[in-house]
Amino acid sequence: MEKIKKGVRLEHISKIYKDPKTGKDFYAVKDTDLEIKPGSFVTLLGPSGCGKTTTLRMIAGFESPDEGEIYLGDEPINELTPNKRDTAMVFQSYALLPHYNIFDNVAYGLKLRKLPKDVIKEKVMKILELVKLSGMEGRMTNQLSGGQQQRVALARALVIEPSVLLFDEPLSNLDAKLRVEMRTEIRRIQQEVGITAVYVTHDQSEAMAISDQIIIMDKGVVAQMGTPEEIYYHPVSEFVADFIGEANFLRGKYVGNDGKYAVLDFEGNKLKTPPKDDMKVGEQYTAVLRPEAAKLGDEGGLECRVIVSCFMGAYQNYHVMVGDTLVKLEDHNPKNRRVYKVGEKCHLLIDTDALHVI
Ligand code: ATP
Repeated sequence: MEKIKKGVRLEHISKIYKDPKTGKDFYAVKDTDLEIKPGSFVTLLGPSGCGKTTTLRMIAGFESPDEGEIYLGDEPINELTPNKRDTAMVFQSYALLPHYNIFDNVAYGLKLRKLPKDVIKEKVMKILELVKLSGMEGRMTNQLSGGQQQRVALARALVIEPSVLLFDEPLSNLDAKLRVEMRTEIRRIQQEVGITAVYVTHDQSEAMAISDQIIIMDKGVVAQMGTPEEIYYHPVSEFVADFIGEANFLRGKYVGNDGKYAVLDFEGNKLKTPPKDDMKVGEQYTAVLRPEAAKLGDEGGLECRVIVSCFMGAYQNYHVMVGDTLVKLEDHNPKNRRVYKVGEKCHLLIDTDALHVI
C-alpha cells in the first residue's frame, strides 16, 4: 500500500544554548514557524551558526526545543525519541558500519525491526537498485568511494521507509564534481520516492539546484522562505540578496512614480525600477541588480567607467563605477558586442524590469 505523505510543521520553535565563552543563554533558534509540505524538498540555508543544523536536529529528535511544538503530519512529536519519529537522517560523515558489507549496512535498520529474512532481502535489493548499487551488495563499505558511501547512507535511510528524510550537509566530504553529480542523484531519488526531504547546506548553488523551497536563516530566525526563483528575483532584504548569488545594491532617494516605474535618484541619475508597495517620496531605497541583468553600451543608460574587464569563457565580467557606486556585471553575449577595456568611459544599460526594490 502506498504510504501517506506527511509534511513537517514547526510552531513557535526556540532552542536556547549557553554561550561557552560568556556563560550567557542565547537563542540558537528563535520563535520559528515553518510549514514543510508533504513530498516537497526543502533546504535550510544560511551562514555558519545561523541555526540550520539545530533546526534539523530538533526535527530528528536529537535536540529538544525549549519552546514550541513540532508536528509530523498532524501528530505532535516533541515527546518522541528519534527512532519513534518516522524520520531518517543522512549524515555528512555517512555513519556507515565499517566492518559490514553494503547489504548488511542497508539491512541493519530492518533487522532491528525484526522483519522476516525474505522481506529484508526484497526491500534491500529494491533500494540498492534505486540508488544504483545493484550487484555491489557484497562489497565492504571501506572499499567504496565517497560517492558510493553516500549512496549506501541514502539507501540505509530510505529502506526503513520513513515519512521524512533529513540531510545534514551530506555532500560536504565530496569533491566539487561529485557534489554536483550526487545532488542531482539525491533529487532524482527523492522525486522517484515522493518523500518529504529537509536538507541542510551552506552552499547556495546546491540549494538552488535541488530545492522546491529554500529557507534562508539568519541568527536563529527565518529571513525568507520561498522557491529558488522567488528568493533570487524577489529577496526581502540585502542579507538574502547577498547570500543567494551576486547582487549589486543601487541606493537612492525615491523621487516619484512615472506611471509605471518608481524613480530613484541614483548617483545623480534617474533610475527607473519596478515599484514596491508603500514607497514614500524623499526616503532612501535600495534596488537590487543581478550581474546578468545589465550590459555596457556606447550610449543611453547611466554613464560609467570600467575598472575591471575579464574574459570568463561563458561571459565577460565587468566592474564599473557609476559615480561612487561599484557595479559588477556579466555580459553573457560579448561576442556580439565590443568588449570594453579598463579605463574606458561607457554606459551601463540596465534591464529595468529585472530590478527589485527592497
Ligand atoms: P554550521 O553551518 O556551522 O553547521 P548552523 O547554521 O548549522 O552552522 P547550528 O549548528 O545550528 O548552526 O548552531 C547555531 C548556534 O548554536 C551556533 O552559535 C552554535 O555555536 C550554537 N550551538 C550549536 N549546538 C550547540 C550546543 N550543543 N551547545 C551550545 N551551543 C551550541
